[in-house]
Amino acid sequence: MSNHSFWPAGAHRYIRAHIMGDVLPLELEQKAAAVRDMLAAAVQQYGRVVYSNSLGAEAMVLTDIIWSHVPEIDIFSIDTGRLHEETYELVEKLERRYKKRIRLVYPDAENLAKLVEKQGVNGFFHSLEARLACCHVRKVEVFKRAVQGYSAWVTGVRRQQSATRALGQPIEWDAQNNMHKISPLLDWTEEQVWQYIRARKIPYNTLHDRSFPSIGCAPCTRAIQPGEDQRAGRWWWEQPESRECGLQPRVRHAVGQA
Ligand code: SF4
Repeated sequence: MSNHSFWPAGAHRYIRAHIMGDVLPLELEQKAAAVRDMLAAAVQQYGRVVYSNSLGAEAMVLTDIIWSHVPEIDIFSIDTGRLHEETYELVEKLERRYKKRIRLVYPDAENLAKLVEKQGVNGFFHSLEARLACCHVRKVEVFKRAVQGYSAWVTGVRRQQSATRALGQPIEWDAQNNMHKISPLLDWTEEQVWQYIRARKIPYNTLHDRSFPSIGCAPCTRAIQPGEDQRAGRWWWEQPESRECGLQPRVRHAVGQA
């Protein structure tokens, strides 16, 4: 019997998705399949892989793909202690949908107490230095602790999100954290992210419906105006070049390149 199939490559998955009621347009199904393949290959190549789940829209796509297809990848989220209530509600919705617990990781209590003692409870508004110090204690240190023992970490950044992120590569050596960094959604558009979320009926942060395309800590995130940059609501009082928390390294070396 011939192995030749009447259907083009990928069509079987598309048909199966239709039958299961979670329809993805063929192009998006192919993109999602590429993400699944990239993550599965990362597990094969690097062994212990962890996903730092930002709980943003892109994170919903990656959470769905990882928990549905590549469960060998561990997932954690950083609870800075200053998140929006809507973000905690989202954590509960995700846990109900996938019947799994998201591992929340927290700042070191002693370092946090010292930070607040030094700069005050909202000191991050007063200078870039104070803001970075807060992000360091509430995010960067926590991240470094959470990724210890892993060989690679996954992130949901997209090129469209900012000038800095436009320079990213799908697989990079993250010298800052001494491990590989995998960005499977780099070339996804915002529209594709939302198409995926809607087709798969995945929960998402309801702040996205109120003009918050990018969501971080409550005091440091605001809604954006039409036409503004996607990340304009993050640390909105600062210059665009400084609007990162320190988790995304500035100097990059793509794997396989000099
Ligand atoms: S986003 Fe704001 S509150 Fe959150 S860690 Fe950074 S400076 Fe602190």
